[in-house]
Amino acid sequence: MKTRLALALLALATALPVLAQEKVLNLYSARHYQTDEKLYENFTKQTGIKISRIDGKEDELMERIRNEGANSPADVFITVDATRLAVADSLGLFAPVKSKVLESRIPANLRTDTWFAFSTRARVIIYNRNALKAEDVASYESLADPKLKGKLCSRSGAHPYNLSLVASLVAHDGEAKTEDWARGVVANFARVPKGGDTDQIKSVAAGECGVAVSNTYYLARLIRSDKTDDRRMMEKVGIVWPNQTGRGAHINISGAGMVKTSKNTDAAIKFLEYLASDDAQRYFADGNNEWPVVASVVTNNPALEAMGKFKADTLPLGKVAQNVAVAQKLLDRAGYR
Ligand code: FE
Repeated sequence: MKTRLALALLALATALPVLAQEKVLNLYSARHYQTDEKLYENFTKQTGIKISRIDGKEDELMERIRNEGANSPADVFITVDATRLAVADSLGLFAPVKSKVLESRIPANLRTDTWFAFSTRARVIIYNRNALKAEDVASYESLADPKLKGKLCSRSGAHPYNLSLVASLVAHDGEAKTEDWARGVVANFARVPKGGDTDQIKSVAAGECGVAVSNTYYLARLIRSDKTDDRRMMEKVGIVWPNQTGRGAHINISGAGMVKTSKNTDAAIKFLEYLASDDAQRYFADGNNEWPVVASVVTNNPALEAMGKFKADTLPLGKVAQNVAVAQKLLDRAGYR
């Protein structure tokens, strides 16, 4: 018995220095793209800090961090959409981060005190080229125009992508006007909201709907697809950068924040700063056909280049997030489910 204990202690003693040396960052991730693997490996190569990743759906991960409470091993939570990051923030999951690197590299409208954007996507209007013209659907506001009756397709109004868009409308047009808009949109539905953005693109191409909205990376994915059918389908779809004569197209983000209970705050901040580095920005954006947040970073993405340049709304995403609850309620009242 004594020898066994001695052996066990010896084993522990030899194992300890290794454990103490090995730095690990616990990343809870609701992003699942193939290139993310390389993105994280590169961080380990640069810093010697290993990444232990827990993948899951955003709601599950947020719930998990909450349940783990003070004992949560999570250091960083990474996900997509300002609405979701705002929810995480309102649940008190994030700690404020002060970093000169993040402040100098990420534009002020794309960060808050607690979470930071690392890539952007635009929510654009798409239309069937045989059914409509670009001028018919030049702005988000135009989607409520009665001349589009029976032509509009949409995913659920409760989805974060739509909630964020409507929250931005509330910020620009006010609550009452946006509620009228939502009623107009509902009156224009070609069908009850269903499916994801890709389903709306397919329905627009098939002529089942004249118009819909989609995030840009879904469009880029189909434009650069190796399937001929996908590329043919995209020839039927016109893409409009909305509100170009005014505030510009609504944009959203992929982003991350440091978890409040992180025991590893140095590594967490290092990781966030790494995500804003030139190398990481390229992986981060190209991996999912998004744009880098760091203005000086050059990407090489033919599908995004084919879509051309556009004016983006510079409304701070923190402001968008503040209007999400109002947006949700007015969509409910308008019957935009
Ligand atoms: Fe998406």
